[in-house]
Amino acid sequence: MNPLGIYIHIPYCLHKCGYCDFNSHPENQEESEVYVPALLLEIEHYAQKLAPQTVPTVFFGGGTPTLLPPASLDKILGKVKQHFNLSADCEITIEANPATIKQETLEQIRSSGFNRISIGVQSFDLDELKLLERVHNEEEIHTTVDRARLAGFDNLSLDLMSGLPGQSPAIWQSHLQQALDKKPEHISAYGLTIEPTTSFFKLQERGLLTLPPEETHLEMFQTTIETLQSAGYEQYEISNFSRHGFECRHNLNYWDNGEYLGLGAGASSYLKGERFKNTNLPSRYIREVQAKGSAVESTEKLDLLHAMGETIMLGLRRLKGISIEDFENRFQISFKNVYGKVVDPLLNEGLITFNQNRMALSRKGLFIADSVILKFLA
Ligand code: SF4
Repeated sequence: MNPLGIYIHIPYCLHKCGYCDFNSHPENQEESEVYVPALLLEIEHYAQKLAPQTVPTVFFGGGTPTLLPPASLDKILGKVKQHFNLSADCEITIEANPATIKQETLEQIRSSGFNRISIGVQSFDLDELKLLERVHNEEEIHTTVDRARLAGFDNLSLDLMSGLPGQSPAIWQSHLQQALDKKPEHISAYGLTIEPTTSFFKLQERGLLTLPPEETHLEMFQTTIETLQSAGYEQYEISNFSRHGFECRHNLNYWDNGEYLGLGAGASSYLKGERFKNTNLPSRYIREVQAKGSAVESTEKLDLLHAMGETIMLGLRRLKGISIEDFENRFQISFKNVYGKVVDPLLNEGLITFNQNRMALSRKGLFIADSVILKFLA
């Protein structure tokens, strides 16, 4: 039986950030009081449907999970523990935003069993934070990290964002350094991308938002790798770095194209070769779960070619790449027969490497990862 990752979506935020295309909605206390019981129903629904599987990771994401009262988070996690077989060393992550969390709250969350915290820092500069429409300031970042440590979180991740309008590589380097000063076990460093559903997109269309040029993005990426590696962090995925043994196991399961169950508004699942996704709108999610226990709005059974393409697309994001042997065992097919013509030119251009029967992006390939990966999906 395959291990199962469980993702729980809490869709509320204090304010919608200008770049955000996640399924997040304005904080709504009345609605969230009904949302939590709906989540509990959905957990019970799937617990009855699924055969017992070991759960090595649980991830509460959002939105802003820490907007819910700790008692509600405790109830949801308690329900998961009651109905699923969590492994003894289960990684239980909660995403948190500075400015939404008090010392007492962190202590309660920690004692509920959350053992990993991922803090959405994005930037240490007040003007950049304002531009991103984040509701915290620099001081609150320091306070939140210090409070999380005091509460006993010894597995802590910071999220940072590069490539902001007007940002130079030197400014980005100073954010990385400030993050390192907090001694996190893990750092996620993503480049800003502008998605069509965001208010940033509209600003960009009107010429009011200009991102740094491509070569600056690449320079920042290079700076990220060099700065974090020389501070002892291993780059284990394109945008993710950790101290040894602190990789995010929940995300490793995604990149391995493993099975996961997503619960809550807009959450996606992947089980037995099938992807399904819940409806986004929390009010609708609540109604549907109350009526039938689940709120799936779309289902997709991947055909063989798509399933193989996804496995490569996800696996190549990891620095160690994919095991050809695992791939062939999984799909009962010769890798070379399917992808030989794709692989040869990429090898000739030095964009991928083969080592001990694993295929991975080369250093050169890492910088144009998306276009290399696309070749396997064509
Ligand atoms: S805090 Fe995160 S989820 Fe919420 S609006 Fe901002 S980016 Fe989106």
